[in-house]
Amino acid sequence: MNIFAYLHPGFTGKAVKIQISSTKGPLNLIGFPSLQTLQFKQKASTLFAKLGQGRPQAILQCSTSENLKHLESALVLALLLEKYHLNSSMTPDIMVFGTLNLDGSLEREQTLYDAPQTARINRCGLLIAPHSLLIENQKHVNLVQCADIEEAFRQLQKYLLLSEGVTLPEFSTRQTNAPVKDPFAAILGLEKAKKALSLCAAGNLNILLYGPPGAGKTLLLHTLGSLLPPLTEEEQHTAAKINGKLSQKRPVIEISPSMGEKDVLQGNPPLISLANQGMLLVDELANQKIKTLQAISFFLDRGECKTYPTSFILAGAMNGCPCGKFGMEEEICRCSEQQIERYWNKIGPALLDRFDICIPIIPEDLLVCKVDSENPHILDTIDQIRKLSSKRNEEHYLKLLPLFNQCNTVKRVSIRRALSSCKTARLIADFKGKTIVGKEDMIEALSYKTYGVDRHYR
Ligand SMILES: [Zn+2]
Repeated sequence: MNIFAYLHPGFTGKAVKIQISSTKGPLNLIGFPSLQTLQFKQKASTLFAKLGQGRPQAILQCSTSENLKHLESALVLALLLEKYHLNSSMTPDIMVFGTLNLDGSLEREQTLYDAPQTARINRCGLLIAPHSLLIENQKHVNLVQCADIEEAFRQLQKYLLLSEGVTLPEFSTRQTNAPVKDPFAAILGLEKAKKALSLCAAGNLNILLYGPPGAGKTLLLHTLGSLLPPLTEEEQHTAAKINGKLSQKRPVIEISPSMGEKDVLQGNPPLISLANQGMLLVDELANQKIKTLQAISFFLDRGECKTYPTSFILAGAMNGCPCGKFGMEEEICRCSEQQIERYWNKIGPALLDRFDICIPIIPEDLLVCKVDSENPHILDTIDQIRKLSSKRNEEHYLKLLPLFNQCNTVKRVSIRRALSSCKTARLIADFKGKTIVGKEDMIEALSYKTYGVDRHYR
């Protein structure tokens, strides 16, 4: 990945390439007058200290030796990327626009002119610009507007995460005791899936995500774990009776296709019970052994296994078809309708029916999806709705059945599935702060269950 700074020296803008090489010694900038270099080094050191990042260490060089002021924001971002070893990746190039103040805030001094075009011509996938600028999102360049350098770096991390599918190191800031941030902060786009996960966490719903490999299914399911609030004191005692440990953390137990029915049920306590009050994550659902799936389904219903409780959120992921290309825009799936039918039948209608939410995950175009969607209050909201939801019983949802019948278009629906949609609709209304469930909430709830109706998406 290359970093460019945007300059507008004359009639057209130009991209200035920033070169960086690592060193064990102190920061150095080559090619500028010594006074300017000194001022930049002081500024970079001050900002690094302010961000709790220690001292900057690298040698910097630019493809121009003028207008240092307009290059500083790109230079400091390059230093941060170097510190986290993020600049050697295969990611598309980025461009940075705006001047950098001593407090870290980004400002615009030049008019934007043709920065998006310059970014596009130089094959930059991301353009970072100050907040104060009013520009519309461009078609071919992902524009991110940031207030300061820290925000710019966080947005950049997200961008890298999405383009490479790797987990990035935490950006340790000075606020170590800061309130918990949005667990979705690392996931770009996929808004529907994020909403679905919030619903699951708020109402203990079971979820199945299906789609091509690399679409982010497993990452999303792991995020569900961090949306769940810590165990209450009473729950901690229940957990301690099962695994002998007193911990606030909700358990996440993963089942892999190599495991058999015995592995899941054997032992005291059985593995399936270790997921109690937490989450049982079943990746590659369609590749699991049929007996394992039947056992999970059976004990999920029964609520106990060998007197150990088995109450958990079942979270599954699978491809949409045997070849896995189903739902990919640039590839063609050649599986026949019968093959796809057989593939889904392996899981069986009984288990499929137990997933309250079942949605496709389709990879989103990096250049059109939204980068900025942080919601720092999501965990509080989920916690509040969980409390509301725990007081409701089946009767509460039975009252919503007439509304369900009015909106549902699928034939022969089991009462279990109907009630699960009623519960989802109730939770959707909760998130909107509504006391009464409306028709639009029910229609939205039905859209979270698409495997049977709309299996041949796209
Ligand atoms: Zn296929």
